[in-house]
Amino acid sequence: MYCHTGVDKVFFSDFPAFQRFGNALVPEGSLALKNKSFADDYQPIDAHCTCSTCRNYTRAYLHTVATNEAVASSLITVHNVAYQVNNTQWRFISCPECLFL
Ligand SMILES: [Zn+2]
Repeated sequence: MYCHTGVDKVFFSDFPAFQRFGNALVPEGSLALKNKSFADDYQPIDAHCTCSTCRNYTRAYLHTVATNEAVASSLITVHNVAYQVNNTQWRFISCPECLFL
């Protein structure tokens, strides 16, 4: 995804601030955690992510706090930054020429 859209768009934009709106990055795109469909979803944001948010909080918990408390932004930020770091590392390992795009 990022490889062909330009790394600068990822690192030098407000894309990582997605969490302000309760959005969490996942391989399929993003999850709008304020959506009521997550109220009873007891999975982590991303089952393959090892960040502290995914290890300790469910989508249901984040849905509940995302609609009321700023702490959700911090928790989702932890996940989104970890997701981007892991995704970028994977991209550069699997596609070294992407470093020069
Ligand atoms: Zn995570």
